[in-house]
Amino acid sequence: MDYYSNQITQLIEELGKLPGIGPKSAGRLAFHIINMPQDQVKKLSDTIISAKTNVHYCKECCTLTDNEICPICASDKRDHSTIMVVENTRDLMAYEKTGKYECVYHVLHGAINPMAGIGQNDIKLKELFQRLKDDVDEVIIATNSSVEGEATAMYISKVVKPLGIKVTRIA
Ligand code: ZN
Repeated sequence: MDYYSNQITQLIEELGKLPGIGPKSAGRLAFHIINMPQDQVKKLSDTIISAKTNVHYCKECCTLTDNEICPICASDKRDHSTIMVVENTRDLMAYEKTGKYECVYHVLHGAINPMAGIGQNDIKLKELFQRLKDDVDEVIIATNSSVEGEATAMYISKVVKPLGIKVTRIA
């Protein structure tokens, strides 16, 4: 039964498709949005659309950015000879928050997962190996400690070690 107007139901449905948002939260968010001032709602929807339109992969490290090269890769204060490999941009942000890492990253956008049909060509490994042709001394593998993260770490280390580049694994 449709308790609300069609449009509210639709809004609840769409919000409910987001990760971590159950039907209850979706309802709460929908009514919150309806009660927000018009200009705030417009700002929110414009921000979503503009982020979706303008954000793409950094040409160097594949993190999400709205520049051609992300600010980390573009920085000359960073040590570009050490690359930390992470599974996604959220992981990169977590390491950045510590403020202790002064080198650069590579974002894979996933991990090798044969069960789900994700192989080495489905994540940004080719782009990583391409970067190793430049002056790179060390690769720090910071993929998750899940089965997939471990499989990915093993694969990377198998490819990188013979190149004479130091490989470190952190979890
Ligand atoms: Zn970058």
